[in-house]
Amino acid sequence: MAPDGARVLGIDIGGTNVKLALVGRDGRTLGGRTIPTDAAGGPEPAVERITAAASQLLAAHGPARALGVASAGIVDHAAKLVLDAPNLRRWERVPFAAQLGAKLDLPVQLENDVNAMAFAEWSCGAGRGARHLLCLTLGTGVGGGLILDGNLYRGAAGAAGEAGHTPVERSGPPCSCGSTGCLERFVGASAIVEHARNRMAGETHPSRLRELSETSLTPRAIADAATGGDLLAQEILADIGAWLGVGLAGFANLLNPERIVVGGGIAAAGDWILGPARRVLRERAMSVPGAGVEVVCAELANDASLVGAALLAWEPVRGA
Ligand SMILES: [Zn+2]
Repeated sequence: MAPDGARVLGIDIGGTNVKLALVGRDGRTLGGRTIPTDAAGGPEPAVERITAAASQLLAAHGPARALGVASAGIVDHAAKLVLDAPNLRRWERVPFAAQLGAKLDLPVQLENDVNAMAFAEWSCGAGRGARHLLCLTLGTGVGGGLILDGNLYRGAAGAAGEAGHTPVERSGPPCSCGSTGCLERFVGASAIVEHARNRMAGETHPSRLRELSETSLTPRAIADAATGGDLLAQEILADIGAWLGVGLAGFANLLNPERIVVGGGIAAAGDWILGPARRVLRERAMSVPGAGVEVVCAELANDASLVGAALLAWEPVRGA
């Protein structure tokens, strides 16, 4: 196969699913598929299942030059190990990436999934052309990835970009990381649902949210209600957006990025959250970093981490 047609195999390992696809230099994917992680079963059987799925994919769509693996958790990029992953506890310090590389006979790189997403958005998504970029993912957890001065920034131990665990209140609600008052506890999925419940309990405004059952009150349902004209849903998301804006103001002051890309499941609420977030960011950040930053929605879909891991794995084999 000609070098320009060469591809890298990207694998994204999350707490629930493993996604695989071949990725071209332009970030386009081929032959994507998803298999369950079965995180509780540990990495050994998962490595076997991922290898089998990857082998089928390579047999169907052609060879790969390298393997890029994205994983949830704090990743030691040089050692190719996951150091701390609440959703993949049994995978910590297990050389599963090296094992996958050996089984598939491919050079391998391991990257944190949000770092990989940031790299993908920067390379071929909403972060194109920026030299200083913060990428946030809003979901159950709130993650971050940084491109600083044109390079992916990992920090001293691979733990840079944990934006969701930025403390925004000295004594706020307890967080999954062991601290209290983290940004994630104000803008994460559970915080949105909790805030919606509190608003509904404290007010008598009519709202279609009141018709939803306990389990169907989700950030997605709140976003849908807001889009459908539900005022309470709009106000709830505006409150969340204001909290997000407080966090973004801090990030803008610290990093002075040109652009902040927001992705993840909650980003589906789009401007219902991002509009108020932009307003509060401008009010609360210092004038120069506040005026110089744009806040945009991510462009790449769910496979951004897989694409980013694959593009990062290109680097060492590029000239080979
Ligand atoms: Zn936290």
